[in-house]
Amino acid sequence: MDPLLFIPGPVEISPSVRQAAAEPPLAHGSTTFVELFGELVRRMREIWRAGPEFQPFAFAGSGTLAMETAACNLLDPGQTALVVQTGIFGERMSRILERRGVHVVRVTADAGEAPTIARIAEVLDDEPVHALFATHVDTSTAVRLDVRSLAELARKKDVLFVLDGVCAIGGELCDQAGWGIDVVLAASQKALGGPPGLSLLVASPRALEARRGLRAPPPLAIDLEEWLPVHHALEGGLPSYFATPPTSLVRATVAALREIDIRDAVARQARVGAAMHSAWRALRLASVPAEGDAAHTLSALWIPEQVRTTLPQRLASLGVLVAGPLHPSLKPRSFRVGHMGYVTRRRDLLERCVRILGRVLVDEGHPADVEGAVSALHRELPESEREVDRHRLAARPY
Ligand SMILES: *Cc1c(COP(=O)(O)O)cnc(C)c1O
Repeated sequence: MDPLLFIPGPVEISPSVRQAAAEPPLAHGSTTFVELFGELVRRMREIWRAGPEFQPFAFAGSGTLAMETAACNLLDPGQTALVVQTGIFGERMSRILERRGVHVVRVTADAGEAPTIARIAEVLDDEPVHALFATHVDTSTAVRLDVRSLAELARKKDVLFVLDGVCAIGGELCDQAGWGIDVVLAASQKALGGPPGLSLLVASPRALEARRGLRAPPPLAIDLEEWLPVHHALEGGLPSYFATPPTSLVRATVAALREIDIRDAVARQARVGAAMHSAWRALRLASVPAEGDAAHTLSALWIPEQVRTTLPQRLASLGVLVAGPLHPSLKPRSFRVGHMGYVTRRRDLLERCVRILGRVLVDEGHPADVEGAVSALHRELPESEREVDRHRLAARPY
């Protein structure tokens, strides 16, 4: 049997998403697809908390393509971007921008830490920056940024603000219209709880204006100006073609978004994050980021000294897949656990992850309190969710 996915994407998907993914492909001109795409766009606006004047985009590709799309549609070669780097995805953004010929100013921090807003403000004062880029949750370190303050700063300094929300949207609090973020980009396979393969982004009117003002247009396949009429037509109920959309992925992603009531989802993700951190404390596992900087969607944890086994491999052999370290300075003695998407509604699966990890730690001679960790989980995830688990969601047969 396939192991349970507790890596930070792709994540477990719900029974109804699996069912949607198993349907035969739709024609992109079919009424069913046109309606589904319109629903995708409307649901994205809701989840991103973007107003009607904001434009969602969805096309085939992963989160990295959404990053590339944002970079190439907002900035001309020779312009300057400030990238707040809290891990390897921030560095990826910088590399993408440099390939576009953009001059990049990096503001970094040690792995597991975030630069202060004051430091970022200082750099914005010193450099002729056109756009600020940041990662809501950097999946390589589990550091979560204070996006609201960053957005405020970007508005004050009158620079475009692009947020990589790949490991956040659908789980962490984000208010694109309220906070005034120009682009929030994502992918289908993380906190949104869909299968991998769909690049998603929502652009502000100012972002679309920046695209129209470019001297050097972006590559055709990721040009938002090319995609815009297609998205308008589909949202208006009319078939339209630019490049064949991944119709099956759109169907599965819509099924995933239907399960997200954003207020509930953000509150639940915060509780799951807190509950998992309580469980880690009982297992005597230290988090890489300090509590105030730690994401709710995933955890990055240090591997205790006593543990000699290769933890991710050992867990995989027991049916739970977690991720090894990605950030060079967190190698080799850390690992990462994704706890976003469908599993936030499945306390039984979270418990399985905690129990199996706890058992391996105890086997290795580490003083983990497995029952303490499980009761922490039960204490912090409220009764109503157990009811939801029991009545609304079919159990996956593990
Ligand atoms: C996963 C991830 C990406 C890259 O997404 P892919 O779908 O793997 O291309 C970018 N940024 C963040 C924050 C991520 O977590």
